[in-house]
Amino acid sequence: MSDTTYQAIVIGAGPGGYPCAIRLGQLGVKTLIVEKEAWGGVCLNVGCIPSKALITAGKQLEAIGKADAMGIKVSGEASIDMDALQNWKGGIVKKLTGGVQMLLKGNNVDLANGTATITGPNTVSVEADGKTTTYTADHIVIATGSRPIEIPGFSYSDARIIDSTGALALEAVPKHIIVIGGGYIGLEMGIMYRKLGAEVSVIEMQNQVLPGFDKDVVKLLSRKLKKSKITTHLKTKALGWEATDDGVKLNIETPKGKESLEGDYILVTVGRRPNTENLGLESLGVEMDGPFVNVDKQQRTNVGSIYAIGDVAGQPMLAHKATHEGEVVAEVIAGHNVAYDAKTVPAVVFTDPEIATAGLDEEAAKARGPIKVGKMPFAAIGRALTTNDTDGFIKVIIDAETHIVLGVTIVGPHASDLISEGAL
Ligand code: FAD
Repeated sequence: MSDTTYQAIVIGAGPGGYPCAIRLGQLGVKTLIVEKEAWGGVCLNVGCIPSKALITAGKQLEAIGKADAMGIKVSGEASIDMDALQNWKGGIVKKLTGGVQMLLKGNNVDLANGTATITGPNTVSVEADGKTTTYTADHIVIATGSRPIEIPGFSYSDARIIDSTGALALEAVPKHIIVIGGGYIGLEMGIMYRKLGAEVSVIEMQNQVLPGFDKDVVKLLSRKLKKSKITTHLKTKALGWEATDDGVKLNIETPKGKESLEGDYILVTVGRRPNTENLGLESLGVEMDGPFVNVDKQQRTNVGSIYAIGDVAGQPMLAHKATHEGEVVAEVIAGHNVAYDAKTVPAVVFTDPEIATAGLDEEAAKARGPIKVGKMPFAAIGRALTTNDTDGFIKVIIDAETHIVLGVTIVGPHASDLISEGAL
């Protein structure tokens, strides 16, 4: 084989693409992976990992403030050194993303930096520094991920309008951060900045935060937001913004009429859009499913040699789902009889309290047939009392006849760890 001929080419090195390429390498498939920006993708660079690092710091700071109840005396007031926090976070990202490249190389995968375009069912051109190289492969895997949606009038090119990437990189804790969008990313970021000392306002068009989530979960979280003095404006529309001397003024339309809020930054978190443009998909006739690439249970598109995994291949847009799909594709390419067949994909929201789900929620389960619901508050669990953190509950939903577990929802301390039991 020539050095531009491969059995498989993976486009994008996020948590979908890089594990896919590693597995392909392990299975003896000659593989090239192409990345145009940062090895490790959104998750490692500007998503899951850096956000969880900052969220942990916020929690630690708050825990110090609450330690008095356990007889722990701290002299002076705990405070945050944002430079040091950003350095610590950056160190974690660097370690992980460096590890990705080492793992790929260690498993005999070739790496190319550049922007890939699929020019035929078996050809990919990669552009880097004004030079284009054309590669051929039996199989092509699209793992190009997603990016934040921009709303009209709120361009991320304005320094005061930021997306989640911008929010993770602030050099100082803002005095007041206004979050447009009360979904999981907006709430994770908002709660984190509140714990670090910022005033936080959340603007949400719907009549609840976390649209689509279990009603009991939303009720509890809303109570907690209020308790932590995060202001939520529901059924509220962001109309536009203007710059002030030292920040921004956001004009909103609430059910009571027009108002404005002043802050340092407007963080827009209204969802993410899959990166499917400029890849050559239209000219190849690759079928779409709305904004996503349409795939079968083996992640294959209607063009037999082309596969799609991760955020680009549909909901849920989660890192572990991307990884699993990547591993499935690698096995399929290696000729194994494997298909994506996850009965449940757990999902975690790293708010305070944490929310974790596996399987169906109560409403979806009810729509399927008769159910029974068991609910246990954390306040009645001894172990929860010993963590000094008792807001939350565990809800288990079973089929009323067969008693098969249909879904588990956990809200509370360590929900992210506990949910693996639910998924099992
Ligand atoms: P991505 O991670 O988006 O990677 C795609 C890669 O492809 C990118 O590196 C991109 O540069 C590259 N690329 C794109 N086009 C081309 C091209 N033409 N040529 C070459 N390379 C290209 N998920 C969780 O499961 N848990 C969490 O706690 C969590 N927290 C999150 C927090 C935030 C703030 C955000 C934004 C996301 C979070 N997510 C979380 C979601 C998670 O990051 C994504 O689901 C995951 O990164 C998707 O992986 P992917 O491989 O599909 O794509």
